[in-house]
Amino acid sequence: MHVLVLGSGQLARMMSLAGAPLNIAITAFDVTSGNVVHPLTQAVVGHGLEQAIEQADVITAEFEHIPHDVLAVCERSGKFLPSTQAIKAGGDRRVEKALLDNAGVRNAKYAVINSRADFDAAIEKIGIPMVLKSALGGYDGKGQWRLKQAADADAIWAEMAQCIAASDNQAIVAEQFVPFDREVSLVGARGSNGEIAVYPLAENVHVNGVLSLSTAIDAPQLQEQAKQMFSAVADSLDYVGVLALEFFDVQGELLVNEIAPRVHNSGHWTQQGAETCQFENHLRAVCGLPLGSTKLIRETAMINILGEDTLPTQLLAMEGCHIHWYGKEKRPGRKMGHINVTADYSGELQRKLCELAAVLDADAFPAVQEVARQIQPQ
Ligand code: AMP
Repeated sequence: MHVLVLGSGQLARMMSLAGAPLNIAITAFDVTSGNVVHPLTQAVVGHGLEQAIEQADVITAEFEHIPHDVLAVCERSGKFLPSTQAIKAGGDRRVEKALLDNAGVRNAKYAVINSRADFDAAIEKIGIPMVLKSALGGYDGKGQWRLKQAADADAIWAEMAQCIAASDNQAIVAEQFVPFDREVSLVGARGSNGEIAVYPLAENVHVNGVLSLSTAIDAPQLQEQAKQMFSAVADSLDYVGVLALEFFDVQGELLVNEIAPRVHNSGHWTQQGAETCQFENHLRAVCGLPLGSTKLIRETAMINILGEDTLPTQLLAMEGCHIHWYGKEKRPGRKMGHINVTADYSGELQRKLCELAAVLDADAFPAVQEVARQIQPQ
């Protein structure tokens, strides 16, 4: 099988690594340069999108911010999975919110803002504090504002008005501020026959809006809620592939924050911690193959490596410590790789996180330091 991935970043790279044992070959379309590239070497391997589409058995995507003309060409080929509708729901918060409402899935109260009058009406409807997010193009906490007091409305409106004017079809989605206890996510796959297999929930720690630490957890009640919401969303889209739902946990009740119609950063732990990793399961699903078991085989946590291109080599000597670099050029804050840490039981995982906290740079890995402090208060 030959799968063409729209996007040539680390997710396409990890799909390529996971597909090789099943003889599934990946080429990637770099949406920015317009080149068809090898997902591991980034070497140009093709002559344009049209030919790549023709040569592929299946087309899928590693991200949701794909130009609509590219999506349209792929859709016309009849080979694109999950679907244009799913990708648009992941890339436009208005579509996402409407989808969640239609699927009957709980999410934060919201309003769409196109004008100052809409903003005032949203403040009236939702109340303060409020989180404001650009409808298009926002990810990892980018394109967001927090309205904490009425006096800040004018200043925030000035920035939002600029954002709306800067691109076509842009708007702001205002959301009620959710006083959550923690953030969790559910990654799962839906096969072409409608079968669904979800992984255990992951608990996620974000720093400045970017995922920093993700740990697979055993939370049966939450898991059941999350699975129901996952099925409602996936079935409503007739989804095929891996899908991620991010939630706020508010005293044991889950609210969806956002959906990602693709393999997800909070599912990277599955490379070492699950029977079949999310990348392989995505490929199995889009290639029409049976899904692999999503069973947890080891306690696992994933630590993102942000803006760093070296780590102490002693990490490689630690049992259960697995480093995954993405082969990217170093830039401040950029996702450069991740570390999966595994253990036989949760106490051992905590001990290993403390060991890691002692050797990792405290400024570069604040979430690990924080977890270590909670486990071993000074
Ligand atoms: P997002 O890009 O929507 O995932 O938002 C980035 C981060 O901002 C989330 O991971 C949350 O920590 C926080 N956040 C987003 N929306 C809300 C909300 N409605 N209430 C409270 N915190 C939020």
